[in-house]
Amino acid sequence: TVDRLRPFTTTIFAEMSALAVDHDAVNLGQGFPDTDGPASMLDAARQAITDGRNQYPPGIGVPELRRAVARTQHDLYGLDYDPDREVLITVGATEAIAGAVVGLVEPGDEVIMIEPYYDAYAATVAMAGGVRRVVPLVPDGDGFRLDRERLAAAFGPKTSMVLVNSPHNPTGTVLSRDDLTEIARLCVEHDVVAVTDEVYEHLVFDGRTHTPLATLPGMRARTLRISSAAKTFNCTGWKVGWVSGPPELVSATRTAKQYMSYVGSGPFQPAVAHALEHEMGWVRESALALQAKRDRISTALTDAGFAVHRSEATYFVCADPRPLGVDDGIEFCRSLPERIGVAAVPVSVFTDDREPWHHLLRFAFAKRDEVIAEAAERLRRL
Ligand code: PMP
Ligand code: GLN
Repeated sequence: TVDRLRPFTTTIFAEMSALAVDHDAVNLGQGFPDTDGPASMLDAARQAITDGRNQYPPGIGVPELRRAVARTQHDLYGLDYDPDREVLITVGATEAIAGAVVGLVEPGDEVIMIEPYYDAYAATVAMAGGVRRVVPLVPDGDGFRLDRERLAAAFGPKTSMVLVNSPHNPTGTVLSRDDLTEIARLCVEHDVVAVTDEVYEHLVFDGRTHTPLATLPGMRARTLRISSAAKTFNCTGWKVGWVSGPPELVSATRTAKQYMSYVGSGPFQPAVAHALEHEMGWVRESALALQAKRDRISTALTDAGFAVHRSEATYFVCADPRPLGVDDGIEFCRSLPERIGVAAVPVSVFTDDREPWHHLLRFAFAKRDEVIAEAAERLRRL
């Protein structure tokens, strides 16, 4: 392994999932749902295979999916993208992020990201030879907000990109309008491109709304908006994602993407197009069901003695085990599957500085109710 990738040799998700299997633990580590997406979407995928859509699709993605992606953003946010020049289908959000970073970041450029950050951000910036600058979230009541002073201080002459993940993995924070406004102001002032990872855009709770950064003044022209079918339609294994933005940013991403995967998988693209056109009601129901799961796991964690942070969105809730006398989240996560048969992920693996995150644990709750109930039962053994 080359030096710049040595810190990234194994992902924590693989390690924790393996431990979960070894100990027959309830896996609340890796964030994936344990039920399928809408039946009509699954039918559409089978139909696409039957219809012979099994060869290379167009590199930028099948037209009906690009159109559906554009239409959804128009309907939900009033954002208009030309499906032929401003939308690119990728192999999950992961490839969209990698393509954007590799296509737009020069070696030595600085890329700002919010800490904790999704692990792929640091690895892809390293692949591109970029330098990451992290801006931490800070506790705000039982939730989190951006440290705006650190944010402003992070922007400088070498900044070429800011990676913004809201709704945020792992904390479940939805960035406030004030935080987004400040990010937008700094991007405009420093002429910086924003890459927004909005894979949890539809999974927000308690009547909150998600605001894409691209809708703020001056941002449509400098934002690459990334989303994915994975979390929206419970199909993390399909690896269908997309990026929307102005033509020059999309085409830079496409240049890199062409040599990463060439094209995405054929039959799943029309199926996701079908889901975007016909199953957004299913998504709203799914978000409501997730909210109830969030409540149940949060209560179980509180009852077990954790201090639980507020989760406003996503699949995740963070819990502080210090009231249980535990200070090291990594060691605790390594021991939990064997001790009580539950797997979680330590938040510090999403950070540069283990302080102030070293204790925190992330629990994924996109699981069937009986699985959550079993996890709650086992958490009582603590
Ligand atoms: N970004 C975030 C914040 C994620 O949590 C995930 C995992 N769903 C991804 C990107 C990757 O998405 P995909 O599975 O579509 O590649
Ligand atoms: N996005 C999911 C998570 O955060 C899955 C990540 C992965 O398996 N790489 O858990």
